[in-house]
Amino acid sequence: MAVVTETAATNGVSTAVKHKVIFVLGGPGSGKGTQSAKLVSEFGVVHLSAGDLLRAHMKSGSKEGTMVADMIANGQIVPSYVTVGLLQDAMRDSGKGVFLIDGFPRNEENRAAFEEQTKITPEFILFFDCPAETMEKRLLGRQEGRTDDNLETIRKRFKVFEEQSLPVVQHYEKTGRVARINADRDPEDVYREVRRLFEEL
Ligand code: UDP
Ligand code: MG
Repeated sequence: MAVVTETAATNGVSTAVKHKVIFVLGGPGSGKGTQSAKLVSEFGVVHLSAGDLLRAHMKSGSKEGTMVADMIANGQIVPSYVTVGLLQDAMRDSGKGVFLIDGFPRNEENRAAFEEQTKITPEFILFFDCPAETMEKRLLGRQEGRTDDNLETIRKRFKVFEEQSLPVVQHYEKTGRVARINADRDPEDVYREVRRLFEEL
């Protein structure tokens, strides 16, 4: 259930904007960004990658930016106040209503901080289930110049995902909000299944 988080004045009439959020979760290299891009072009939803927002933020040159850069290079989870702030700003600035939030929440602290600060409960969670061998091959195969796509950091990211991020998925499974997708397939095959969830939204 989405709640009213913002009001906009139009011709002197105040209209409430409802924010709908879908969390896109899955291990590093499970296909979150690839599938999100397809959903943007077909359904016009707004894609917010927490990792992309943090990578942009680390280029700011501020002290906080340097901390974010170090944490990403080590596969660690950035404190919630930074990430939730970036997500809230991006949601507000978009002026839109339906958001795919990709790669967040990554731990229980992230989840609690988001719900507390935005008062938004996600519509559902899209969870890309993928074996580590497949994810590792994809990460080592992509050449995006990321500081964390090296074998040492990849292994750390897998560990953090299993220990801290999977419990978030398990939390939402208890409320029946998780759509689990087999992501160990061709992206087109994965998308055929994913898109069905958005036709009724
Ligand atoms: N990250 C974070 N909090 C988030 C999202 C990302 O701290 O909510 C950091 C974390 O260090 C992670 C990195 O950004 O390992 C890259 O995240 P992204 O989602 O871009 O990539 P993935 O690891 O899922 O491929
Ligand atoms: Mg990504």
